[in-house]
Amino acid sequence: MSPHLKSVAELSRGLAAREFSSVELTRHFLARIEAGNPRLNAFVTVCAERSLAEAARADAAIAAGGAGPLTGVPLAHKDIFCTEGVLTTCGSRMLANFVSPYDATVVSRLAAAGMVTLGKLNMDEFAMGSSNETSFFGPVRNPWNEAFVPGGSSGGSAAAVAARLAPVATGTDTGGSIRQPAALTGLTGIKPTYGRVSRYGMIAFASSLDQAGVLALSAEDAALVLEAMAGFDERDSTSVDAPVPSYRAEIERPVRGLKVGIIREFFGEGLEARTGAAVQAALDVYRRLGAELVEVSLPNLALSVPTYYVVAPAECSSNLSRFDGVRFGYRCEDPRDLLDLYTRSRGEGFGPEVKRRIMTGTYVLSAGYYDAYYLKAQKVRSLINEDFRRAFAEVDVLIGPTAPTPAFELGAKMDDPITMYLNDIYTIGANLAGLPALSAPCGLVDGLPVGLQVIGPHFAESRVLAAAHAYQRETDWHLKVPAGWE
Ligand code: GLN
Repeated sequence: MSPHLKSVAELSRGLAAREFSSVELTRHFLARIEAGNPRLNAFVTVCAERSLAEAARADAAIAAGGAGPLTGVPLAHKDIFCTEGVLTTCGSRMLANFVSPYDATVVSRLAAAGMVTLGKLNMDEFAMGSSNETSFFGPVRNPWNEAFVPGGSSGGSAAAVAARLAPVATGTDTGGSIRQPAALTGLTGIKPTYGRVSRYGMIAFASSLDQAGVLALSAEDAALVLEAMAGFDERDSTSVDAPVPSYRAEIERPVRGLKVGIIREFFGEGLEARTGAAVQAALDVYRRLGAELVEVSLPNLALSVPTYYVVAPAECSSNLSRFDGVRFGYRCEDPRDLLDLYTRSRGEGFGPEVKRRIMTGTYVLSAGYYDAYYLKAQKVRSLINEDFRRAFAEVDVLIGPTAPTPAFELGAKMDDPITMYLNDIYTIGANLAGLPALSAPCGLVDGLPVGLQVIGPHFAESRVLAAAHAYQRETDWHLKVPAGWE
């Protein structure tokens, strides 16, 4: 089997057995990127020389017997993670010239685990979007059908892994940006519990919602890489000081007796019929495996999209105020005075979706509107948390669709922000409540992948991964490769 069709777990075994070296593996993926990336636009930066040097060091560690399970395995990072000495653009003109002076914790931990960084991946500008069309570097294409979007905002991560240009990739999820692109490209993507993975060096969008995670070919691969990323970091005050279990070991837990809650509100109007049927067929697999399925209701979940579109813009309007043309990033030509420097640098550096969010956020935080919008949204957020808390008093996990439809055509929703926002109707709840959630492929509709979402209680990553792993032992949706990328 060609190395690009192997999982991280298989690559790890192949490296240990000296079937191939990390340098050979890295060359293989660099060649695939060179050939395939012009079609997909998944990479903003390819780190060819640097990755080969890292691979040579990994080979030396393997030869010396000092290798861990990820030593020598290549990966690529969403371009939201600061990477020392490498361009870190966040998909924006504002940072199109920004070379980070330091590594994000996610980057340094995976490097310390011996992983080889192939490059940096395209994304929606500042992670705002569901289709990867807001990127300053142009849209990313879906390898299953290049006329379709790969989802967003981690669309570069999704396209790269789905097309086997990288064995695994990092992503971030503020309202669905790991799970939705994973669903639309046939991958397994996990967003862990808020606080599980350090946000240090991850460019902030909405700080109370942002979490880093993994887009992989299987739950097993996601478990392996998440284990190396997760854990307390004193440089992130919201990171949680709790031991990280061995996700890889705990993933084998059977689902017999697992209480699965089916969220009634997720199967109503808006869910495309064949997408719903694929999810129902997946539920039958869980029944067969001995899980106990019960219907649950989360009555306030319907308010998650409007709540998110108050909270997230409010936080982004504050976070993005640091981009002022003075300290880093884009600066306009020949400013007349300081005000002109600020206004033109921001006016020219940010794209339309980012401006829309900053304006919305500034509005909902302004005196006179704060109580009516921002405070109200925070109250509804508490009600949504409470809905989940009640549900998890009765069930172990919640299962439903990840997105209401498969991928849509490029350009189809770009002039209708509300329709675009509704793509995240099933994913945002887990962000508002800070819960771990995963998407795994469960079918194809007109040749396009469909995702199954599993949501767990706080810090139940192992349970969520085990539920997906059990399903993947019974099915082969996660092994399907888009035509032309074999
Ligand atoms: N699509 C959502 C948005 O545009 C979520 C993005 C994300 O999770 N980063 O805000």
